[in-house]
Amino acid sequence: MARKGKAVVARELNKPVVVEEITFDPPARGEVVVKIGAVGVCHSDLSGTNGTIALPLPLILGHEAAGMVIEVGEGVTELAVGDHVLANWIYMCGTCHYCNIGRPVLCDQQGKALFTMFDGTSRTRDASGAPLNVFSGVGVMAEFAVVHERNLVKYDPRVPADRAALVGCAVTTGVGAVLNTAKVRPGTTCGVWGTGGVGLNVIQGCAIAGAARIIAIDTSEAKLEFARTFGATDVIKTGPGEDLTKQIKKLTGGGLDYAFECVGSGEVAAAAYKAIRRGGLAVVVGVAPATASTTLVTRSLPFEEKTLTGSYFGSARPREDFPRMLALYAEGKLKLDELITRRYTIDQAPQAFADLESGVNARGVIVL
Ligand SMILES: [Zn+2]
Ligand SMILES: [Zn+2]
Repeated sequence: MARKGKAVVARELNKPVVVEEITFDPPARGEVVVKIGAVGVCHSDLSGTNGTIALPLPLILGHEAAGMVIEVGEGVTELAVGDHVLANWIYMCGTCHYCNIGRPVLCDQQGKALFTMFDGTSRTRDASGAPLNVFSGVGVMAEFAVVHERNLVKYDPRVPADRAALVGCAVTTGVGAVLNTAKVRPGTTCGVWGTGGVGLNVIQGCAIAGAARIIAIDTSEAKLEFARTFGATDVIKTGPGEDLTKQIKKLTGGGLDYAFECVGSGEVAAAAYKAIRRGGLAVVVGVAPATASTTLVTRSLPFEEKTLTGSYFGSARPREDFPRMLALYAEGKLKLDELITRRYTIDQAPQAFADLESGVNARGVIVL
């Protein structure tokens, strides 16, 4: 059946988001309707409103949500009404080369569900009947969402929805970069540039991995305070373009074992690489502008066996990693409660985006 409900829509670039009453059409083959319980407000959503992530507008935002399946379409095999699910913003086809070798975040087919359903059509219409695009093929910043089952992961509903939702993006991106991509070893020294939602999760990932020392680097004093809560042992307040290589090498007695770039800057990626010691690994997690580039001294690769690599969505296997993150939370090893600094109603979405832009929250969550 078709449903009416509220959704948070980006209508015009660089304008506040709008909360609209829209129509959700019934699910097509392989799709389900999810009643959303909570949705995180992620920096990527903001990027969708200002063109940094260029998706065609009008666009329903949201890609980090928890909810419950209330209707299933034809041919749905993995989910049933009543299942609790987390949105997974990467469509995983299950049959391509990358899905077959256990690297589903690199799925060859994901490009087909960037702002529409996988089949290129839409299940969402505004009051005039015009189709609305959906962020990452999910568009879960709404009362309901029609989502393909390959964009969903079942979870244990004993974890409250607002906390579980965060596993769908920020937590898995950050903790996954540490545990899956870098495979940080106990007793090592890590540096983390940028302590927003993802950076804080890189920091707690390093703590979970048993790093002996975790150095957080940011331009904001307030964010560095959050960093300490999540396990940073040292914090460095920096200014734009400041070269910290010497300071970090002195502080660590030779350099970092692991460096994580969570800012999205070609220069910061170069700085992170410079700050690692012989045999060190620098991981770029942040998404830099398309024009950014990174320069390094080529012979440092063989002479010092240094590595520069990237991590996309924490190199995750969402169907295994989402439950694994929630298990770490249940064991008291993963901080989710502390991540949520403010909860909003869906009508307060414009405020939630303003707060995200000004950086006052670790994470803001819209609770429905
Ligand atoms: Zn996100
Ligand atoms: Zn695939």
